[in-house]
Amino acid sequence: MSLLDNFGQPAIRQQLDTILSGNRMPHAMLFYGEPGSGVLPGALSLANDILCTSPVNGKACRQCTSCNRASKNIHPDLHFLLPLAGAKSLSTAFYEPWREAIAKNPWLNVFQWTQFCDVEGKQVDIHKEDIQHVTSDLSLEAFEGGNKVIIIWMAQFLAREGNRLLKLIEEPPDYTYFILISNQRERLLPTIRSRCMQIYFPPMEESEILKLLVDEYGTDKKSAAVLAKQSVQDMGRALTLSTNTLMDFKDEMADWFRAVISKKGKEIATWSDQMGKQDKEEQKQFVLYAIAFVRNILWAFSNDDQKKEVVEGAEMIKYLHEHYHPEVWHHISRGLETAHEKIARNANAKLMWLSLSITIKNQLMAYRLQHINA
Ligand SMILES: [Zn+2]
Repeated sequence: MSLLDNFGQPAIRQQLDTILSGNRMPHAMLFYGEPGSGVLPGALSLANDILCTSPVNGKACRQCTSCNRASKNIHPDLHFLLPLAGAKSLSTAFYEPWREAIAKNPWLNVFQWTQFCDVEGKQVDIHKEDIQHVTSDLSLEAFEGGNKVIIIWMAQFLAREGNRLLKLIEEPPDYTYFILISNQRERLLPTIRSRCMQIYFPPMEESEILKLLVDEYGTDKKSAAVLAKQSVQDMGRALTLSTNTLMDFKDEMADWFRAVISKKGKEIATWSDQMGKQDKEEQKQFVLYAIAFVRNILWAFSNDDQKKEVVEGAEMIKYLHEHYHPEVWHHISRGLETAHEKIARNANAKLMWLSLSITIKNQLMAYRLQHINA
């Protein structure tokens, strides 16, 4: 088994099998779902089926030269359109880092991609010239004489430029297939959406994340179980946690809780100011880190020994778990989820952090366990 056979969404794989075996492959599809649900691994798997020169029941044989190339994402008829910084950038110039990035983590998010390209914090888009470049290629004969696949990763970055693709998606050249991928379907032009067969990827089951970590990434079962829990149904997150490349906000987290617990207004305000100044994506990453942190405190209340091991050594988590009623972490967790949405919607960040910090301070005061004070 490989990721191409099993990308952790068995129901969707089955749906694709039905389409392929019935020879009813549409020329434009839209895969959409939450980050970490596997829209890209799903698209890569389907692309391999489409590019295979000796398919079995419509599915990739995994043996021919085309399959071999497609599995490494180096098939000359497999094209990608990617969000990039700089209006003159062409996706083809970024194929090498792209292949490297998705070989490591095909569940990656846009923030990780910008980090990979060293353009962290910069505005990225799918640019006009890049679209023209890719589409002009499509009128040419396929290199391998078979099908062509164009994967448009994070198609919401097409924005209004999507209009340039309308006609192509509606009447594509022969043997040409578009797979659009998005974590924000609502940002796609309705005219684009309506021309695609749409498949929704639900958040991944924890059991599927666990299985992939063990089978594909060689993670031992015990750690995989912990990572699957911490991932919050996001496989990309599970992988980043497993390789420890997730941004480490340990210090920020500790400073924040120290400030709210001490109830010192000035420290809370300083911290909120600092966090509000950070890049928007970094703030979102911090929120995800904080949600996982809070979940860790909750686990400390369970009797599951395996989970306890994770939080041992984390002094602050231990302190928080001993001094506050578990109910408070549910409230704080919900507040953090709302914060994530607010950052995405361009809320005034410093004010948002200040008000969230004060709410958390009050919640902690209300749920502090009395016997500890005695
Ligand atoms: Zn094949």
